Amino acid sequence: MDYYQLFEQFTRALSVIEDIDTVQLSAAMKEICVYFRISKVTVLFYESVNHEKAGRGEEYVCFDRGRSGETLLSERIVNSIQAVVVCRMYLEEGAASWSQDETERIKLGQTVLLSFFNRCKMQDMVERLRYYDSDDYPNLRYFMRELDRLKGEGSLGGKVAVHFNLRHFTLVNQQVGRIAGNVVMSRYIAGIAELLGDRGVVCRIGGDNFCLICEQDMLEPVLKHLLGTPVVYNAVSNEKIMVSATAGVFQIPQDFVYENFSDIMDKIISASQQARTGGGDFVVFYDHDLIMNREKMVKVQGMFGEALEKEEFKVFYQPKVSVYTGELLGAEALCRWFHDGKIVPPMEFIPILEQNLDICRLDFYMLDHVCRDVRQWLDEGKEVVRVSVNLSRKHMMDFELKEHILEIIDRNNVPHEYIEIELTETTTDVEFVDLKRVVHGLQEAGLSISIDDFGMGYSSLNLLKEVPWNVLKVDKSFLPVAEDDEKSSRSIMFRYVVAMAKELGLECIAEGVETRQQVDILRENRCDLAQGYYFDKPLPKQDYENRMEAHRYQINE
Ligand code: C2E
Ligand code: CA
Ligand code: CA
Repeated sequence: MDYYQLFEQFTRALSVIEDIDTVQLSAAMKEICVYFRISKVTVLFYESVNHEKAGRGEEYVCFDRGRSGETLLSERIVNSIQAVVVCRMYLEEGAASWSQDETERIKLGQTVLLSFFNRCKMQDMVERLRYYDSDDYPNLRYFMRELDRLKGEGSLGGKVAVHFNLRHFTLVNQQVGRIAGNVVMSRYIAGIAELLGDRGVVCRIGGDNFCLICEQDMLEPVLKHLLGTPVVYNAVSNEKIMVSATAGVFQIPQDFVYENFSDIMDKIISASQQARTGGGDFVVFYDHDLIMNREKMVKVQGMFGEALEKEEFKVFYQPKVSVYTGELLGAEALCRWFHDGKIVPPMEFIPILEQNLDICRLDFYMLDHVCRDVRQWLDEGKEVVRVSVNLSRKHMMDFELKEHILEIIDRNNVPHEYIEIELTETTTDVEFVDLKRVVHGLQEAGLSISIDDFGMGYSSLNLLKEVPWNVLKVDKSFLPVAEDDEKSSRSIMFRYVVAMAKELGLECIAEGVETRQQVDILRENRCDLAQGYYFDKPLPKQDYENRMEAHRYQINE
């Protein structure tokens, strides 16, 4: 075979990238190398010129007769994305050197090989860009491709699809810093990928939203990981942070008809949305219940306007008591819905109202009714104590929140020191900024502001430092219970939280105090105030008025 035939064979083998005939290719390569007395051919690939300088590349050996050569023919190209491909060829030891003419032809062959590698590598990169995001997570397109692949295989039925959102991740970033935050996220996700192995894939669809598809029996370990996994973010000091997610799960039935991507995506996203905003379970399964919940939601939203007009919502007051003297020092206003002769508890409607801005109307209504009561008690000469009102974080979007609140209080002619506003932690940067502004503004007007449910999120420490609160309400979950001794993590946390609050000059109150023993724990830790069933449940107005009259609780010694 002469050179031209060889060359044609070689280029033909390289002309199709997708479906290279590797056998044909290496056979052609071998013949050419033997013909030209070449002992070795290598191709080097560097992702960038900088990588080349640093000697960080991948090397491919295309041909090697095992005899090292001397003369080296090196060709180098830098492609349009600044990646570098270098092809090197060696002349066999002791063989006659290449003639001028041969060198030209070898160079031609080299160029073909170079451009082949270049194309392959470019394709790899395009593939990466297409199916991976800039942080190297498989992306939404990857997920879609995987669903298509499973469908093609006929094995989509029986799998589980999950959409999940990391909880409070912006605040994790704030706490450990962006860079460590990225490490935390990638380790948390790598943990899932590791669990899944080749039995599922996990992809990022943007920000802190991910989805995964896996085999049914992987669901349990995956959910366990999702619901809370400590992640090391500082390898030197071994510092860890707890990462968790809310998730929507769809167990794909065997007979499921999958036509397009949204058939699955819509389901896991809506379940996930529910988990995220529902205020209840952190995992929601897409199923009949969810549809039922939807119906319930639509029903509640539909009834809300009329219920508000008919004043079906009533204020209940739960006393706040000094743990030292038993004195009544304040109360929290909690909402109860009297509907169809039943009392609907807040957990059944507040999360629903929080799905849109209805909650804001309810909160203003509550504030208004509290102010009316306070005004009435003042006029009756009662010994009135401060009342706190819950404000949903949905209000943070309201640029005139301060004005709205003050308008209600002033319209009722209530001195500002009688009103306290309870706010819970927030989830995004923007809200954090808004929160600072709101807290500041309201304080200027003489209202007390408390941080509610403190300890529920990771944000807490940062939130505490950055925003000038008056009161810290320690969440129930931090309060030691009967089986905790003083070395239990709950006891230690509680001690630290109270000490920190005091150091920052904040008033500190524990919620959910149910036993005498807990009152003692509060005393020992100098947490001055308690709210909970040990003293009273949230009370209707009349009962609360009686408590105000009595003014003091008996704490049995
Ligand atoms: P929250 O603000 O953390 O209110 C404290 C909840 O703990 C109340 O539940 C209260 O009844 C309950 N609680 C008090 N003492 C104890 C105790 O000793 N043990 C136990 N296990 N629980 C105790 P409630 O009244 O069902 O309210 C639930 C949540 O609904 C509130 O949590 C608050 O987030 C929301 N909520 C209630 N009323 C309003 C409102 O007017 N506006 C807004 N935005 N949210 C409200
Ligand atoms: Ca509260
Ligand atoms: Ca609370």
